[in-house]
Amino acid sequence: MEAFLRARSPIDLHLHSNVSDGTGSPADVVREAHAAGVRTMSLTDHDTTAGWDEAREECLRLGMTFIPGMEFTSRIEYGSIHILAYLFDPNYAPLVEELKKLQSDRENRLRQMTENVSADYDITWDHVLEQVSASGKSVGRPHLADALVARGIISERSEAFSGILSKDGPYYVSQYALDPLSAVKLIRSAGGVPVMAHPTTKGRVAPMEYIDRLIDAGLGGYEIEHRENMEPGKTILRELCEERGLIITGSSDYHGTGKPNQPGENTTESEMLARIIEQGTGSEPSYPE
Ligand code: AMP
Ligand code: MN
Ligand code: MN
Ligand code: MN
Repeated sequence: MEAFLRARSPIDLHLHSNVSDGTGSPADVVREAHAAGVRTMSLTDHDTTAGWDEAREECLRLGMTFIPGMEFTSRIEYGSIHILAYLFDPNYAPLVEELKKLQSDRENRLRQMTENVSADYDITWDHVLEQVSASGKSVGRPHLADALVARGIISERSEAFSGILSKDGPYYVSQYALDPLSAVKLIRSAGGVPVMAHPTTKGRVAPMEYIDRLIDAGLGGYEIEHRENMEPGKTILRELCEERGLIITGSSDYHGTGKPNQPGENTTESEMLARIIEQGTGSEPSYPE
């Protein structure tokens, strides 16, 4: 299996740059992952591929393998469901259309939330924009959180998520996204491999009937090794993956200084990456010389 031999370990398939809600540039993220010992990585910014070229170039310069990726937003009634997508075609027209919709709604929704918050706190959309550093930016609550920190209203990003910007708080606005079944199908149509991100952060798993539908739609695997996943969900999902021949990944979900997660804190086995590479037909990994 050629791919198995070419991509060196440790393998971390979930990292964010400031093209979405990480704090470093794509090249910074690659350097930080490299310094942590990571040798194969995927940049998985939310709903955008804008960081790929810069990350790929820096990976190759440092002798690392680059896997094109993205964390795609979908939603069900009670919240958003993140789906990691690997090796898809970034120019597949239906996907490009969907990403445009997601981007424009991300901005409208965050403007609305900012307006809601501004009723009680001294904060404007311009303050939020000051926290948005990269081009091709996927904005979200982290940027509003950073603006609240910059204004001295709270002391750190995570404080916002349990407080002012909480999903159950008075200022929250939900975001448009496809349902997970349609999202999985769209990723597969684009030649990509969909892997459910941090699937058991509450310890539970989705109803088995729904999991069956996700697998029928083309779900390729589960990100089981992730610091926010809890038992007993991890055990249940490991067994499910084994029984159903699904891919298991482990990753850091690094966000720079935006979250405590560190590059390489969870990793993916090379056999599992080899399966992702076998299934992905929309784009190619880039291997160093
Ligand atoms: P949004 O999609 O705009 O509702 O915001 C969710 C994003 O915020 C996710 O992509 C997370 O990476 C980030 N996030 C969620 N909780 C926290 C937290 N406690 N601290 C920092 N970032 C967080
Ligand atoms: Mn994020
Ligand atoms: Mn996520
Ligand atoms: Mn993530």
